[in-house]
Amino acid sequence: MRFGMHMTQKGGFVKNVQRAAALGCQTLQVFIGSPTSWNAPRLEPAEIDRRRRVLQECAIEPLVIHTAYLVNLATQKKEFHEKSCLLLQQTLRNAHLLGAPYVVLHVGSHVGSGFQEGMDLFISTLQEMVTNIPPGVELLLENTAGAGTSLGGSFITIGKILQSLGPGVPLGVCLDTAHAWAYGYDLAGPAGLQDTMAEIGRHFGREKIKVVHFNDSSTPRGSRRDRHAHLGEGLIGTAGLKGFLHYPWPEEMPVILETPEAGTDWDAINLSHLRSYAGEPSPS
Ligand SMILES: [Zn+2]
Repeated sequence: MRFGMHMTQKGGFVKNVQRAAALGCQTLQVFIGSPTSWNAPRLEPAEIDRRRRVLQECAIEPLVIHTAYLVNLATQKKEFHEKSCLLLQQTLRNAHLLGAPYVVLHVGSHVGSGFQEGMDLFISTLQEMVTNIPPGVELLLENTAGAGTSLGGSFITIGKILQSLGPGVPLGVCLDTAHAWAYGYDLAGPAGLQDTMAEIGRHFGREKIKVVHFNDSSTPRGSRRDRHAHLGEGLIGTAGLKGFLHYPWPEEMPVILETPEAGTDWDAINLSHLRSYAGEPSPS
């Protein structure tokens, strides 16, 4: 596995990559632009070169791009839907320019129109978009905690979306442990993990998982509330997280922390927990 974390925009792209490398990360997740803005930055060729160079120098690979939180492909509100499609397209394009193979997207929210309408719109929108995904980039649907009107909490839903799009499209899954837990999947012990993985196997298959978001959860299982916790300090707990990590994941699986208080000393603490869970020594 390749370990890394999500880094916020503060200080800019190059600083984030350098900081990730200094912390011993092998992979990194970032937003391109502000997560709460509709404007995707236009990357000039010199800037693309600069970013690609620092990624190479720092051996950060793969780079994972998280889409802005605003993007919602399941909303019936026309203006939001159009803006969402445009921003997602720009994000996919920027990922291609930076050589990032994965773009993570939360399965949207129906915001009141009803589950089936939301799903139908999400699927038909994706059907139009997948033909335009630039080469070398895969769009990953992230499972959510299932709060409110959000669609993507259950593996059944994610499976339905992937089946509707059919085989051969550049679509995969980003599995968030805290979201899975909050939705109701048990990860706290070996029996729960086995059931959860069986559920994944039934609905889309674990080979579809290309990135893991590795977080503990401070909310109870099934609460549908999304609150990430420091590793080992949440309700999934050390034993559960350790067990999850020792599942036979592909060797190159990016495992990314989105733990609280990012940008502080907590980053090094959470990364060292992650390495110790996996049985790897900390870099000196
Ligand atoms: Zn996540």
